[in-house]
Amino acid sequence: MPPKEGKTKDGKPMHYSVGALIKRDGRYLLIDRTNVPFGFASLAGHVDEGEDETTAVKREVKEESGLTVAQSTLLFEEELDWNHCGRNVGSHYWYLFECDVSGEPVLDPEEAALIGWYTPEEIKKLVLEPAWEYWFKKLGII
Ligand SMILES: [Zn+2]
Repeated sequence: MPPKEGKTKDGKPMHYSVGALIKRDGRYLLIDRTNVPFGFASLAGHVDEGEDETTAVKREVKEESGLTVAQSTLLFEEELDWNHCGRNVGSHYWYLFECDVSGEPVLDPEEAALIGWYTPEEIKKLVLEPAWEYWFKKLGII
């Protein structure tokens, strides 16, 4: 399915994105992305055409980690006009969820070089993907 597309205030195409903040025992789940934008990131992806954001976050978490989302809580929604994905869009409108999950994470080699759990102290030392650096700072985690 193609990404759901909207319009920015100045008429450029806009994608919708979901992000999943997943915490267990004081650590956050991160992947080292092998696709642009590079860097350590939590699980995220586009909302597909005809899909709502709650369904999209469940699907992305399952695709990128094998984990099952039991419950998702919306923390923020915000348009990031500096966030790009390799396609020609003006911005991404993000829905950031905190997700309760079950299962153990499994690496998706198409998406990531590694997957693992990191403390805030460890996250501060990583090169983060820019959107996730923004979210972790906004949440006061780093
Ligand atoms: Zn996009």
